[in-house]
Amino acid sequence: MKVRVLGAYGGSSPWHRQTSFLLDGTVALDAGALTQSLTLDEQARVRSILVTHSHLDHVASLPFLVENVFGRTEGPIEIIGPQDVTSLLQGHLFNDAIWPDFTRIPTHFLPAVTFRTVEEGTPFRVNGLQGLALSVSHVVPTFGYLLWDDRSCVVFSGDTGPTEALWAEARRRDDLKAIFVECSFPDSMAEIAEVSRHLTPATLALEMRKFPAGVPVNLYHMKPPTLPQLRADVAALSEPRVRILDDGDELEF
Ligand SMILES: [Zn+2]
Ligand SMILES: [Zn+2]
Repeated sequence: MKVRVLGAYGGSSPWHRQTSFLLDGTVALDAGALTQSLTLDEQARVRSILVTHSHLDHVASLPFLVENVFGRTEGPIEIIGPQDVTSLLQGHLFNDAIWPDFTRIPTHFLPAVTFRTVEEGTPFRVNGLQGLALSVSHVVPTFGYLLWDDRSCVVFSGDTGPTEALWAEARRRDDLKAIFVECSFPDSMAEIAEVSRHLTPATLALEMRKFPAGVPVNLYHMKPPTLPQLRADVAALSEPRVRILDDGDELEF
């Protein structure tokens, strides 16, 4: 499985793209900055977009991707998530006010976009991969995902504070090759991290006790304004298996 880090951050600047990953060229996980990081041809190859939750730093580029690839793909693009997530996107984003309802364009029968709801805890197939969504601990309904092929499994945390079910499932996988986990704020902002349900390096260190041993830990969703502080806090953990991701990183499992 190939994972391209298109957007590693939980905020936006000319040097920081919002959360987006591309798996095997066709499956996106979150859509904070798909159109800023993929060429038009690459955008047209994206068939499915898994969404962790409805916050803008994870969905901001969805409307523009749908518009860019409109008429250039065979069949609709799928936006995938549990009902709690897809219903928010349908009601608040593709609602004919903020952006057209592309599930009815050009027609209801041949739409540019379809929403596919998946059940939490039930494996599903997506473009040659399999996936599983599990609820995590954030301020809106949010899901982490395990994704796997014949050889390897990876896990993405979504935005979350301390959480349990996702890491319990990760511990059950003997094919787990990488953990992608959010780490948003430096330790000096612990209070803000707690109320907004995010991790700091200190709470990450506690979460890591729940992670399966020896699996590499890749950090994402850093907030750009406090990045230098966060880097220093992560370095102070002295955890050799932890790496801070950046836009453009490519990993293969
Ligand atoms: Zn976020
Ligand atoms: Zn969020």
